[in-house]
Parts: sequence; structure tokens; C-alpha cells
Amino acid sequence: YLLQMKILRTKNDLKEATNKIKNLGFVPTMGSLHNGHISLIKKSKLICNRTLVSIYVNPKQFNSKKDFSKYPKNITRDLNILKKLRINFVFTPSTKEIYKEKRIKKIVLPNKYKILCAKSRKGHFEGVLDIMDRFIKLINPKYTFMGEKDFQQLFLVNKFISKKYKNKIFPCKTVRDKNFLALSSRNSLLSKNQLAKAGQIAKCLFNFKLSLKINNQLYNYLLIKKKELQKKFNVKVDYLELRNEKNLTTLNKKKKNRLFLAYYINKVRLIDNF
Ligand code: AMP
Repeated sequence: YLLQMKILRTKNDLKEATNKIKNLGFVPTMGSLHNGHISLIKKSKLICNRTLVSIYVNPKQFNSKKDFSKYPKNITRDLNILKKLRINFVFTPSTKEIYKEKRIKKIVLPNKYKILCAKSRKGHFEGVLDIMDRFIKLINPKYTFMGEKDFQQLFLVNKFISKKYKNKIFPCKTVRDKNFLALSSRNSLLSKNQLAKAGQIAKCLFNFKLSLKINNQLYNYLLIKKKELQKKFNVKVDYLELRNEKNLTTLNKKKKNRLFLAYYINKVRLIDNF
């Protein structure tokens, strides 16, 4: 009666195990699992009959070799967490197999989306869209669960990949730690003090968003806040922008807006949105 979690390492393993499943929930991850990932997994278990979690650090989406080699890995711990959560399948493919088939048409990000993270991380989203296209085609899930923490990623995957298939994207709220910092695998690269500081920055921007007035001074308010953050917290801010949730434009009168932030704290890049 206790169904064992199956670890699938090849496309064949995957096909064999999942081809008859109609209501499959898919949670793509790069491992080093934390409560953010776990909230996605719990949502999938609630909504779908079967849940598949992928653990794959996709080299194609790293614009820096160093960032890729430094990316935290914890496979033994991850598998234990997943066993305890009683998910059905873990998919851990090799790069060689997953990228074996060459693309006929290269993935191109339209210029209007070369904003926010796409601007400073060249090729990043093309890599994300490539792997997500391969995964969704192969796995054929009913729902794919993704976090709002990576809002631009969620937006682009929804726009360019998941609609090609029957799959629907299920957006999940950002999970935060006790300091209010958004959980991220990269947080393990920070010291205790840096974690506290990053939490303060998140709180500061959460309040800023609440008080933000949308008028012709908006651009100035954002610029002043950006400078204030850099000075007060001694971090390098990459961007601080308010954008429309539906299309990511900055023409945002009265529409639902989100405040997007990316910054470096001792060379570790953190992102968040409010
Ligand atoms: P990653 O392993 O960082 O590629 O993330 C895998 C999935 O977990 C993505 O859909 C992320 O948006 C999501 N995720 C990461 N951090 C959080 C968080 N703090 N809260 C909710 N979802 C998250």
C-alpha cells in the first residue's frame, strides 16, 4: 500500500512510468529544496493525482560559468525530503540526453521582453524556455507549478511554452523566511548577517510598494529608492522597476502592478517582487 517514490533517470524511464497518467502535476526545480519548492509540491499533491518533481541544474540558463559551478547541490538531502513528502516521481535527467535532439528553430526572446533579468542575464531565459519546452513535451503534465518569486520566468514560460501544450501553469505565492526574505537556494551562499540585511531590504520594499503613488514622478521615486537602498544597505541594485503584471510594460496607470527588484549582496544575485 505504501507506493515507493520512483527515481527516473532517462527519457525511457520517464515514458514508461508516466505515459498512462492523465492528471500529472509537474514541479520543475534545480534542487537544494527549501520551503518554497515544498509549497509548490504540496499544491500539486492537492490538485493532481500524481506528482513529478524534476531536479536538474540546467547549464544552458546560466549566463556565468562561475554561478553554475557555485550553484548549491544537495541531492541526497533532496531525495529524502521528496520521499517524506510522498511524491510519486523524481526526474533527474543527464544533460547529454536531455539536449541530444537539436532544435530546428532557435528560441528567440522578443525584444520587448529583454527587460529586468533578461537584460543583465544574457541568454538566461532562452535557456529556461528551451529546457521547459523539452520538459513539458516529454512529461506531458496537466499542471506545472511555478513560483511568483521568479515572476518574469513564470510569465515567459506561460506565454511561450506551456500554451503549445495542454499544460496549464499554476502560479504559487512566494514563501519567505522569518526575516521576510524570499526563500531561494542561493540564500545558502549568504552569512547570517547578510540574510538579515536581505530581509530588511525586502520589508523596506514591501512598504515602499504600499506607499507608492503612481503619477508622473514615479520614475523619480524609483530612482531615489534605488539610491537609498544602495547607500543604506551597501548593495548593488541591478533594477528597481514597477511593471504591469499582465504584460510587463511600464505603462501602468491603474493596472495591477508589481515592483521588481534585483540586487547583488557580496556577488550573490537576489531577486524579489512585491
Ligand atoms: P529553482 O529551483 O530556484 O529553479 O525554483 C524552482 C521553482 O520554485 C520555481 O518555479 C521557483 O519560482 C519556485 N520558487 C523558488 N523560490 C520560491 C519561493 N521562495 N516561494 C515560492 N516558490 C519559489
